[in-house]
Amino acid sequence: MESATPVIVAIDGPSGTGKSSTSKAVAAQLGLSYLDTGAQYRAITWWMVHNGIDTGDRAAIAAAAGKPEIVSGTDPLNPTITVDGVDVSGPIRTQEVTSKVSAVSAVPDVRARITELQRSLAATAERGIVVEGRDIGTTVLPDADLKVFLTASPEARAARRSGELRGADIHTTREALIKRDAADSSRKTSPLAKADDAVEVDTTDLTLPQVIDCVVTLVEEKRAGK
Ligand code: C5P
Repeated sequence: MESATPVIVAIDGPSGTGKSSTSKAVAAQLGLSYLDTGAQYRAITWWMVHNGIDTGDRAAIAAAAGKPEIVSGTDPLNPTITVDGVDVSGPIRTQEVTSKVSAVSAVPDVRARITELQRSLAATAERGIVVEGRDIGTTVLPDADLKVFLTASPEARAARRSGELRGADIHTTREALIKRDAADSSRKTSPLAKADDAVEVDTTDLTLPQVIDCVVTLVEEKRAGK
């Protein structure tokens, strides 16, 4: 599929819905760039922890929000993330960062900083981009060509996440997921939410290839002007 006009695809939803795997595969299949915005929030959280900033202190987080330089590589086959030149793709997935990222990402100065990075990457993606997150369709890219909101039952999401975490206890994973969703959905500044014009896809009973096919079809329909 060739098109001269870049296409912007926003994929939002809570974790464990298949968001990252779907977004990466759709971008690769359509020759688009890919941005994992959760990785950016994890990277700034990692920097706060690494620099001894109390993640419960909103004023301290706000004061430091402009300091780290966060760079995302947008190749869907090899997405990268660095902070001040250091590859943090491993450290941002630790339990410590996961448990603190909701608090850090709720701070408006952090969101303003990261949102600016996201918009500039989307604006410069030559063929277009698939951006995955929590507030992409509602806040970051409200004019996206296609908005998808992925959902799944808490059981399916916990099962997928504990599989990714190589057999982590499913009950603990489910509780941690629900807690993080609640924090992300209830924060004041751009909470996790479905945009009014987003297409909702419930992935509970779908395989990953089925979800990918569904989103690719939605993009192709948009491009064909349907
Ligand atoms: O997608 P992932 O689970 O890696 O996201 C980690 C966290 O980053 C989320 O729980 C949320 O607190 C934050 N986030 C956000 N806005 C986004 C993407 C992620 O606040 N667009």
